[in-house]
Order: sequence, then structure tokens, then C-alpha cells
Amino acid sequence: MGGKWSNWSGGVSCKPRQILSPQNEIELAASIRNAEGPVRAPGSGHSFTPLCASDGAMVVLNAFRGLKATSREQGLATIFAATPLWAIGPALHAHGLALRNMGDIDRQTLAGVVATGTHGTGQTLGSLSSDVAGFRLILASGDVLNCTPSENAEIFLGGRVAVGILGVMTEISMALRPRYRLIEDNFLLAPEELFRRLDDLVSTNRHFEFFWFPHADVAVCKTLNETDKPAPAPRSAEFMRRRGERVGGEARVFAGINEILPTLPVLLKPAHGLFSRLMPNAASARWSHEIFPTARPVRFNEMEYAVPLARGADCIREIVAEIRHRKINTGFPLEFRTVAEDDIWLSPFYRRESATIAVHQYYKVDTSRLFDACEAIFRRYEGRPHWGKRHTRSREELTALYPAFERFRSLRRELDPGGKFLNPYLRSIFE
Ligand SMILES: Cc1cc2nc3c(=O)[nH]c(=O)nc-3n(C[C@H](O)[C@H](O)[C@H](O)COP(=O)(O)OP(=O)(O)OC[C@H]3O[C@@H](n4cnc5c(N)ncnc54)[C@H](O)[C@@H]3O)c2cc1C
Repeated sequence: MGGKWSNWSGGVSCKPRQILSPQNEIELAASIRNAEGPVRAPGSGHSFTPLCASDGAMVVLNAFRGLKATSREQGLATIFAATPLWAIGPALHAHGLALRNMGDIDRQTLAGVVATGTHGTGQTLGSLSSDVAGFRLILASGDVLNCTPSENAEIFLGGRVAVGILGVMTEISMALRPRYRLIEDNFLLAPEELFRRLDDLVSTNRHFEFFWFPHADVAVCKTLNETDKPAPAPRSAEFMRRRGERVGGEARVFAGINEILPTLPVLLKPAHGLFSRLMPNAASARWSHEIFPTARPVRFNEMEYAVPLARGADCIREIVAEIRHRKINTGFPLEFRTVAEDDIWLSPFYRRESATIAVHQYYKVDTSRLFDACEAIFRRYEGRPHWGKRHTRSREELTALYPAFERFRSLRRELDPGGKFLNPYLRSIFE
């Protein structure tokens, strides 16, 4: 029984011949063994690249949700792979635990974020994939493997960022920390002052990032730091689910301006100045899983690259100069974050402390002018693309950018020699 599938931004869609909804690991293993490829298991479809597209079989993992086990002493939890992040925070909180870091939203599944190296910001904090302590993987053959640093260690090393092409994860063990509260501060800085203080802002805050509407004369800075101040009682998972889908009045205004900007470029500069000044300042303390994610109700497509941390400031300045010089129209800001290095073969942060720079474009606007201009600059800064976000890099280029790329490809061939998990896009990169 087939159906239609599309990703969050609407930029990727497909019609799988078969949609499978296994209810347990035995059924999942049988589904994968018997299905004709390409077999793709989407999370919540928040990737902008066609990682999940399939005209073969699509495996829906809704039965694999929830917390399986927690150990407060060890700071570990085993979580079913398709659990959405909005459900993980409240569940861990009840056990006195929390994820070490999170990104901008909580709509994704745990396996989805792990598979693409999804990250937040913080110089000493790695991506969510780097906090994986182990996982269970169903291979193309239907065999089930436990992968940890001591069991199937090669697959553990390569499999934490694997865009779902080594197998389908059913459970993931995450290294955690005791639950904690954060306090947020937002402030505007003129670019000269921002870049003068950047190293200090990055190193003295647990989390620092900035958003820069490229035609504006100021950047919006955001810090999050731990606090002992009391926080409101944590919200339920159901509240968190609904909160992330909320479309407020300000989002409607933002979407409305994005509708008219492409035909009224004269509004670019004033709109960017206004957007920057309207960013909220939320100074109250909240539990970490409630303060990290925000709602992103206005749809967009995105490109993001990780560049060496020391070159991040020059890179984003060059990008802004180029966008201004070419008068490129976009209603969205650039986002600058930092991520600690790791040892995961396909991670953009592999053995490299990084700055990430994200570029967004309203989902109804053609991305090529903006993304092509930015990608040309990212190339010069040895940028490594985010696997879930738009890029045009070839297999040869990726081999040069990711030192362990060939090692990953050879592991993939070993685990899935028939290429059952590869769709045409993935085949062009990884076969
Ligand atoms: C509004 C928005 C905000 C975002 N914010 C951030 C951010 O702050 N930081 C950041 O780094 N990224 C961010 N992203 C990107 C996003 O986190 C990634 O693309 C992530 O992969 C999406 O998770 P998902 O559950 O939607 O997975 P999908 O996009 O559905 O799938 C991603 C990959 O995961 C694989 N996968 C899913 N489940 C399994 C499984 N059980 N076993 C094996 N593989 C599996 C899929 O096969 C696919 O290859 C954002 C995206 C959007 C749309």
C-alpha cells in the first residue's frame, strides 16, 4: 500500500510503492529483509535534502517511541529511536536527567537528529550524535546488532552519523547530565563590536549564537547560561508537542512580509532592521528542554556549512558582503553557532572545532541565487555541509572534505552490499 510523502519544507516529495508500519523489532527486521529497495525510514521529515525519498519502501517507525530505561547514576538513557525530541525532554526530566544540548527546534526524532549530526551551539558541546553511547541497528539482511564502543566498535564509530544507510536504528542510548536550568539573554551588537568580542562571547557563555539579517546594521546575539534561579514547573509532553506547532501573530506578519519581499526589494533594508529589533528578550529561567527549542512556523529551505572555528567570523562577513553586493533578496537571517569536535566519520565536526553558518530562504522563493553565492564562499573556507541541509557537493569533493569518507563507504558496502538503503540521491554520494 503506497502513499505520498513530503518533507517539512515541501521541497522533497515522493510516492513510495509500499509503506510499512512494523510494530516491533521482529516485524521491522522481516520488513527490511523482504522489502524491495530503496528502503528508507524517515524521522519527522525535517531534512531539506532527499535523504528519505523512496519510490520503493518507506518504513514508518511510530511504534518505536518512548523511554526504555534510564540510569541516573550512569547519566544514561536508552530511548526508542523514533521518539520526538519534544517528548524526550519531559520524560528525562521526570528522572532528573536532560540532554546535554539541543538545537533550535524539538520537532525531529532522536534517530533523525543522530543520523545527520544535528547540533546546537556551545564551544565545549558536541552534536547530539556525539552524545550517543550505543544503538541497536537492523541491517539490510534483517540481522540485529548492538553497537557500542566495545561491541561492533567500527559500526559504532561510523554509524552515529550515517543518514540511515547502514541500517535502521531501533534504540539509542544517550549520555546525559542531571537536569538543569538556563537563562536566556538577547542583545543587539553592531558588526564591528560583535567581531571584536566574538571569541570572548563564545568562550564565556555555555551557549552563544547570533542571527544576522544580512541587510541589517546590527546582529541579534543570544546567550544561554546555567542558573540556580527558580524555573516554572515543567510542562507536559502534550503541551510541548502543541507549543512547537503554534503559529502566533508575529509569525503571520513575518510570513506576510516574506510573501511581498521578492517583488519589493526596496523593503529589504528596513525589513531586516525591523526584524532584528523585534527579536524577543526572554530573561526568565527555564528548564533546558523548554528553553532550547523555539517554534519555526514559517517554512524555509536551508543550507548550512561547518567551517574551522578560527575562520568562522571571516566566512560570515564575506557572505554578508556578497549578499549585499549582489543585492540578494531573502527575508531570513544567517545563523552562526559553534560546535566541539568529535571522532564520528561522517560528522561535519570530525576532528575539527567548528563554527556553523546557516542560510535560509522562504520556501516559496527559489534558493539558487542565495545558496549558490554562499556555497562558493563555503568552499573557500573548507566548509563541510550539514547532511540534512541543501548542498551540491559531489562524492569526490566530500571524499576530500571528510577524512574518513572512504572508510564509511567501505563499511556501508560491507553491511549493505546490494544497496537496499540507497535511493538515487544517496547512491550518487555513497555508492
Ligand atoms: C525548522 C528546522 C530547524 C532545524 N534546526 C536544526 C538545528 O538547530 N540544528 C541542526 O543541526 N539541524 C537542524 N535542522 C535539521 C534537522 O535537525 C535534521 O535534518 C534532522 O535530521 C531532522 O530529523 P528528522 O527526525 O526530521 O529526520 P528526517 O529528516 O526524517 O531523516 C533524516 C535522516 O535520518 C534517518 N533516520 C531517521 N530515522 C532513522 C532510524 N530509525 N534509523 C536510521 N536512520 C534514521 C533518515 O533515513 C534520514 O536519512 C532543522 C530543520 C528544520 C526543518
